[in-house]
Amino acid sequence: MGASRSSLRNFVRGRFVEGISTFEKVSPVDGSVVAVVHEAGSGLVDAAVRAGREALEGSWGRTTVAERVRLLRRVADTVEARFDDLVRAEVADTGKPVRLARELDVTRAAMNFRSFADMVACTGPEAFVTEFGNGGRALNYTVPKPLGVVGVIVPWNLPLLLLTWKVAPALACGNAVVVKPSEETPSSAVVLAEVMAEAGVPDGVFNVVHGFGAGSAGEFLTTHPGVDAITFTGESRTGSTIMRAVADHVRPVSFELGGKNAAVVFADADLDRAVEGLSRSIFTNTGQVCLCTERVYVERPVFDEVVSRLREKAASLRMGSPYAAGTTTGPLISLGHRAKVVSFLERAVQEGADVVVGGGIPDLGPGLDGGAWIEPTLWTGLDNSSRVMREEVFGPVAGLVPFDSEPEAVSLANDTEYGLAAVVWTSDLERGHRVAQQMRVGMSWVNDWYLRDLRSPFGGTGLSGIGREGGRHSLDFYSEPTNVCVRLAGP
Ligand code: NAD
Repeated sequence: MGASRSSLRNFVRGRFVEGISTFEKVSPVDGSVVAVVHEAGSGLVDAAVRAGREALEGSWGRTTVAERVRLLRRVADTVEARFDDLVRAEVADTGKPVRLARELDVTRAAMNFRSFADMVACTGPEAFVTEFGNGGRALNYTVPKPLGVVGVIVPWNLPLLLLTWKVAPALACGNAVVVKPSEETPSSAVVLAEVMAEAGVPDGVFNVVHGFGAGSAGEFLTTHPGVDAITFTGESRTGSTIMRAVADHVRPVSFELGGKNAAVVFADADLDRAVEGLSRSIFTNTGQVCLCTERVYVERPVFDEVVSRLREKAASLRMGSPYAAGTTTGPLISLGHRAKVVSFLERAVQEGADVVVGGGIPDLGPGLDGGAWIEPTLWTGLDNSSRVMREEVFGPVAGLVPFDSEPEAVSLANDTEYGLAAVVWTSDLERGHRVAQQMRVGMSWVNDWYLRDLRSPFGGTGLSGIGREGGRHSLDFYSEPTNVCVRLAGP
């Protein structure tokens, strides 16, 4: 994998620039170095923020919605023209199977730009004619303005998808952005910078600074007084650190954080579909999707059958080179993250789990032995008091627990500090609606998982975040509304 090692620079004011130091990005597939990355110091982060401000004060600040819509559509076209380069970048950084990068990550990146172009084109400001009893009338209308320079901080699990999910609406609303990709996945943001330049996005509107969190580009960005808002996706703990960092300047934040998501399987469910769906929701992207299921509550009469059929599914997954045709499952993102996941595997056993399948590090033979591989793992015998059922693991793991009644299932699923997503499997229509609505989460699926309409709200409650993205929710976050009140008539 190391053959095409590249040098990844920061992108500021439309130019690629070196940093104050470099670090190596290592492939999670085999441990080889895939890129040398230029880390931005505080001076370069400052230059990026200033570049954004100057773009806003220049011609970018005077663009019309129609001009930005045309530009975002050109960006979407250019993403598609550079599709293979983006897939290569994403696969090199994450080790995810090529098919997944093609079907999910890069396809969604183009869709994000196109969808937010459509959405902003169809959204108009509010207006009210206000009438007073004495014959007086006023016109109240809202002028949406950009927030300004937005700091965009994203994680490594779906790097391009999550980055474009924020950048597309931010630009649609007329903001400038300074993006800080994860240190684990710097590559696709660099290709996206090339895409922006090719599509004609003016210099300074889209900037990329590489580096880490504390004491590095992430912290320099969140504490910079010239940054007008922060949009962040990542761990709940990091969210709380960023919240403290922006508090001094009282800046708006949008937070998409961790999850400990539940699935509830009723005995009346179509078990073929439920098991297929559970397998996807537990193991997709090696369990490294914030929406992945880590807790499965199954009605007792079908508990043994669901456990046994999910075991077969887990055993049928194929780990290997992302470029091999039969590969279904990639590695974890890094050896560091694998050490964390392994600590949960060990803890599960200490807490009394029965390991249904997996539970360790696989031996994939020479060539892959330096990678961050982990076995897809299922447990029974745990309950909600165990730490592995309460804390986010972010790996291909789930604990299965039987239940006896609908109220018990709801209460077990809601027994968490997180509140991101839930799935209900049932063929009883009323129960599907009823239980889905009782889930204390931002997103509740019935008989599916990760089926998305980009106009719907996306986000979580509790430790899972603040605010919603998607559709008008994103447009609202990235705009500052000014109310104009004009006296029309009357005393
Ligand atoms: P992370 O919080 O460690 O890092 C995310 C980003 O924040 C990285 O770019 C990192 O460099 C930066 N960062 C870290 N510390 C910082 C600091 N002090 N100041 C500023 N920036 C800082 O998260 P991760 O490990 O990259 O990603 C996995 C996590 O992301 C999981 O918890 C997962 O659930 C969550 N996630 C949530 C969603 C969602 O939509 N809710 C989506 C994907 C991932």
